[in-house]
Order: sequence, then structure tokens, then C-alpha cells
Amino acid sequence: MAEIGYTRSDLRSLLELQRYDSEINRLRVAIERTRNDPEVEALRTQADATFGAAQAGKERVVKLKHAAAWQEKEADDIRAEIAEAERKMYGGLVSNPKELDQMQKRVEQLRIDIGRHEELGLAAMVESEEAEPALAGQVRAQAEVEALLVKAEGKQRVALADLGKQIKGLTPKRAEMATRVPEPLRVKYERIRDGRSGVGVAAIRRDDLCGACSVEVPRALAKAIVAGRLETCESCGRLLIHLFETAGAGVGAEGAPASSPAEGPPGSLGQPGGRR
Ligand SMILES: [Zn+2]
Repeated sequence: MAEIGYTRSDLRSLLELQRYDSEINRLRVAIERTRNDPEVEALRTQADATFGAAQAGKERVVKLKHAAAWQEKEADDIRAEIAEAERKMYGGLVSNPKELDQMQKRVEQLRIDIGRHEELGLAAMVESEEAEPALAGQVRAQAEVEALLVKAEGKQRVALADLGKQIKGLTPKRAEMATRVPEPLRVKYERIRDGRSGVGVAAIRRDDLCGACSVEVPRALAKAIVAGRLETCESCGRLLIHLFETAGAGVGAEGAPASSPAEGPPGSLGQPGGRR
């Protein structure tokens, strides 16, 4: 369907609007990608895991040390009980031979108990000492991962701030460019753009291919476009414009602005080096 009545300047402004929209869209995609940076996500997961491991290691060592101290205290209490019994037995306080015999048996049992507590206490001590180097390694690993994460998150913050700043810089320029496009044309462009991955208009290429979908435009249609009419690509449904000053590439299907700033209309984005 032919559209007549727009000046070359209107059409150029429309293409320029598309370039702003494509650039803003590219920045939004970059923000999303930066936000979900897999490197940062992986480091977060790793930081959680190393934190958990170090925490578990610390708890284990504390538990073993408590166990060793408890066994030692039990042994000390029993030693005191034996000393008390012996004081009674050898201090002549117990005269009944049967009672004396019972006390001696009791002391023998208590000595066995001391041995058991000492053995368990020593085992816990040895185990805790053996666990210390592993714990030190876990704590070190945790610190290393956390340092990497802090660095990666810092880098991510800087990148997000930079991308946000770029969008902020383009937004008023885009708005200003939109005012230069006649409203019916802008409304039409935006409707088409919405349904077509952010690209609503493209320049027809010198070889008569659609600048967005790269499908060949029929000769008659191409002629009409070159004559200055606004037409629609039969293949992708986007608006097609002949850009008199430019040769070849228009706005790509991926939404990339025209490849060379020298080919672009005046007042182009002015930061070709900023593309990634
Ligand atoms: Zn097309």
C-alpha cells in the first residue's frame, strides 16, 4: 500500500528515530544481560557454597573442642571422687571390711571410667587438630570467592550505571526526533515496530533488498520507493524508505543502526565507538 505525502525530511527523521529506538533497545538488552551476568551468578552460588562449607567446618571444630573439654572435666571430677574415697579409706574413717571392699571396687571402676574419658577426650582433641588445616583452607577459599564476587559485582554496577547513563542521554534526543516525524507516520511506525522485534522501518538497499529482512523487493515497488514513496516490505511488513544520501545498508533486522556514521543522516547518534 503506497503512502504519499511525506517529505524526504520526514522519512529521514523516521529512519533516524528508528536508529535511536534500536540503540535504546540494544542498551536495554545489554542491561538485562549485565543484570543476569552468569559470571556473577556463578560466583554468588560459589560464595554461598564456600560460606556453608566454612561454617560447617567451624561448627565441627567447636563441637570437637567442647567434647574434648567435657571428657577432660568428667575425668577430673572422677579423680576428685577417687581422692575423696581414698581419703576415707586410708584415713581410717571406714572400719567395716565389707564397706572397705565395696569402696575399693568402686575406685577400681572409677579408674576404668577415667581411662575411657581420657581416651575419648584425646580422640576428640586429635580430630579437632586434624580438622584445623581443612577449616583454614575452607575459610581461605570463602574469602577468595567473596573477594572475586565483590569485584565482579562492582564491575556489574559500573556497567549498569554506564548503560543507564547512555539510555538517559538518548531518551530526550529520541523524544525530540519523534516530534520531527508527522504523527500518522510515527503511529504507523510504532505499531509495526511493536510486532517486529523493535524494527518498524528500514532503508531499501542499493541491490533492492529490504534493509531489515534482506528479501528482494519487487522491481516496481523498489522503483516507487526510490521515487520517494513510503512503501511496505511484502516479506516482513516493515516500512521501506529510500535514503537518498546513503548507499547500501540501512537499519538492520537486528536493530543495529546504520553501519557507518558517515552514511547516516545528520544528527546521528554520534557514538559509533560505543557499540559492543
Ligand atoms: Zn523486509
